Amino acid sequence: MSEVRHNWTKEEILEIYNKPLMELLYEAATTHREHHDPNTVQVSTLLSIKTGGCPEDCGYCPQAARYHTDIEGNDLMSVQQVKAQALRAKSSGSSRVCMGAAWRNVKDGPEFDQVLEMVRTINKLDMEVCCTLGMVTENQAQRLAEAGLYAYNHNLDSSEEYYKEVISTRGFEDRLETIDNVRKTNVTVCSGGIIGMGEKEEDRGGMLVALSTLNPQPESVPINALVAVEGTPLEEEKPVSIWDMVRMVATTRIVMPETQVRLSAGRTQMTREGQAMCFFAGANSIFAGDKLLTTPNPDVNEDMEMFKLLGLNPQKPFIKKMQPETVEAKDSEYQSLGEKPKWSRPDHKIERNEEAKQKAKILK
Ligand code: SF4
Repeated sequence: MSEVRHNWTKEEILEIYNKPLMELLYEAATTHREHHDPNTVQVSTLLSIKTGGCPEDCGYCPQAARYHTDIEGNDLMSVQQVKAQALRAKSSGSSRVCMGAAWRNVKDGPEFDQVLEMVRTINKLDMEVCCTLGMVTENQAQRLAEAGLYAYNHNLDSSEEYYKEVISTRGFEDRLETIDNVRKTNVTVCSGGIIGMGEKEEDRGGMLVALSTLNPQPESVPINALVAVEGTPLEEEKPVSIWDMVRMVATTRIVMPETQVRLSAGRTQMTREGQAMCFFAGANSIFAGDKLLTTPNPDVNEDMEMFKLLGLNPQKPFIKKMQPETVEAKDSEYQSLGEKPKWSRPDHKIERNEEAKQKAKILK
């Protein structure tokens, strides 16, 4: 049985990534069967609880306020709205709700208290709850844990080297710090990245080194294919080929055997055959719902048809870890520690991000 290793090197990972495809698929599928039920796929529903107007400059993201994209922004959803959507997601086979807010970082105050209430509410529906809210301090991660949060998503996006070419408003080390803050609680970690942003194979390998050498490795690793959105700095990137996606999924499976590998953005550009190959290569989770935050995603009925065709079953909640207990609300008694996340590279500029910002100013 393949062991979990925390000392993978980039050379080893690239050697796996570049194996003859049949050999790579065989090794990945074997590893997958040793650690998981190959016919079970976990289904998450991603809800954008606060869309657009983000102060960050992630080159792939239509929610960055500085770029001119046609997404419709909205303020933070109400707890009731979120509950209604979670119930709908549950009835269509999702075991997890992942709530995303377009924030740079969590700020203590009424909005965060509202998110904590959403976490408690979904946990009470016996669903796994995940949040992706930007950077969090240790104290905020602890409050989320007490509300009953199951997972926190914070992607590394790419290698440390290529990260500097995509985002200037925060550094790779800031990402690692948030992951570390989450790790100090009993909340599981979801962290992955995006391929197709113009990175080299070495960057894909570098990202997998950064993730697989975390100890423990993230419980969940989303692999996204860039969906290039007009108005963002990466608008002209061509879609990645299915072969790259399969190789990336298979390599992730081999170097992180116990992790749930999430086939994430970009599925609308893939055929069912392509997705089936990703499942064979070790992907065992998808996002359901017709939107992934702001980009298109297959309709939930289409996914259920695909599951039927492939003989796949949606995973029940809390198979990997027990349902977190919710500590009753004490938000009003809570004292903010006034901690602020650091900004590790305040003077960094990326030419294509600056160009997209200028273009947006002209169009506004
Ligand atoms: S990816 Fe997240 S942090 Fe980056 S601009 Fe989009 S919403 Fe903001």
